[in-house]
Amino acid sequence: MELTTLTAHELLKLLSGNEVSPEEAAAAYLKRIEAVDKKLNSFVHIDPDEVIRKAKKIKGGRLKGLPIAVKDNFCVRDQLTTCASRILKSFRPPYNATVIDRLEQEGALILGKLNMDEFAFGSSCETSCYGPTRNPWNTDYAPGGSSGGSAASVAARLTPWSLGSDTGGSIRQPASLCGVAGLKPTYGRVSRYGLIAFASSLDQIGPLTQNVEDAALLMNIISGYDKKDSTSVNIAVPDYLKSFTGDIKGIKIGIPKEYFISGIDSEVKDAVTKAIAVLKKLGASIEEISLPHTEYAVAAYYIVAPGEASSNLARFDGMHYGHRTTNLKKYSESALIDMYCKTRGEGFGDEAKRRILLGTYVLSSGYYDAYYLKALKVRTKIAEDFSKAFKNFDCIVTPTSPTGAFKLGEKTNDPLSMYLSDIFTISANLSGIPAMSVPCGFTSNNLPVGLQILGKPFDEEMLFKVAHAYQSQTDWHTRIPAGCE
Ligand code: GLN
Repeated sequence: MELTTLTAHELLKLLSGNEVSPEEAAAAYLKRIEAVDKKLNSFVHIDPDEVIRKAKKIKGGRLKGLPIAVKDNFCVRDQLTTCASRILKSFRPPYNATVIDRLEQEGALILGKLNMDEFAFGSSCETSCYGPTRNPWNTDYAPGGSSGGSAASVAARLTPWSLGSDTGGSIRQPASLCGVAGLKPTYGRVSRYGLIAFASSLDQIGPLTQNVEDAALLMNIISGYDKKDSTSVNIAVPDYLKSFTGDIKGIKIGIPKEYFISGIDSEVKDAVTKAIAVLKKLGASIEEISLPHTEYAVAAYYIVAPGEASSNLARFDGMHYGHRTTNLKKYSESALIDMYCKTRGEGFGDEAKRRILLGTYVLSSGYYDAYYLKALKVRTKIAEDFSKAFKNFDCIVTPTSPTGAFKLGEKTNDPLSMYLSDIFTISANLSGIPAMSVPCGFTSNNLPVGLQILGKPFDEEMLFKVAHAYQSQTDWHTRIPAGCE
């Protein structure tokens, strides 16, 4: 049997019944990664001998040795954790992120680290210092970003599932472009401890999986309060696997008219419209709504997120860890400043520098009120749009991305068009609400399209319920890219 075509649930069943050992499962994935990832570049750090060594020792837990791969911005003790940046190229953290601890306590086997945009800045996985990941559906295309490696590796079945992080769409957009499921949980649902910060008020960790059941299982393991993250919220974690009642009769779904604007690809619009019809047929009530401040989301995000990023990235200065220039001046009064400048100049890529410049500018005195403070007010307005809508609706359905995957290189010289590809995902981060993308069709050139479902804070169960009902009627999520079967 080809183990690597199985879902996480299917493989777990074999591991639980001792029909397959953790070592056999790991070996199957390592073999497949070796064969397929040359053309995708989704893994950036992998140590096969160490994986097998660990697999032999794994016992029990809820995951019984089930493999998982994680984005390279999760701290894994003694393992390279670089955020795909030259400035962290040799960094090995002395501790685990909380999600890694939780996974390992449940018997998960970490296969390796996945490619991403540098420090998660991007929507195409092209700003990585390791070169881009390629879309398994067509290797001339980008997988989306920034969790491009997390989405591509699941789509190509190089891991049963993966973890990513989402600050403005980085789980959902690549999930949509690679044809897998991706969930950004409510802000505070999953501990961010040990996730290298991009924008601390927006970042959330979440699952990328083949289907909704697997996402629910992974959420059962990673969710919950953590005293090491003061923004994690102490609300009981439900058993997400119990969300699937199969019945969405009477559920009220809002369709925001601002998400069907001109500029959205007509094939994306068609696929999403058909998906909404499926939900309607299942008994959901569908109504058009308005989220009037949507048009300001991209502008507000690209002030708030770089502002926070510029201060989070101040710690990478060559003093404590990470890259330090070797081109040091002899001691003089300006030697320290010179060391900082050269270290950061050599260590950061162009997009990271752009974010640092933008962020420093909007936070500087004289501009703070005009830009940063104003963006925070817009953020509040966007959040209010959602809370008003959720008084009358159980969830909101939209496209995840205005287009299918775009070609590698197509947007690299035009940051604005790259930023606009996040237009439908950003508002959920600004508002802190949960949002999920599930596959809902293909464009005529055989690239996946994603459906986004947004819910009330801490109501991930509603997203699972609706997405699961949809997946029970469709088979988009079962398709595997040619050459990857
Ligand atoms: N594409 C967005 C950005 O570049 C979102 C990235 C993310 O969610 N990490 O900021």
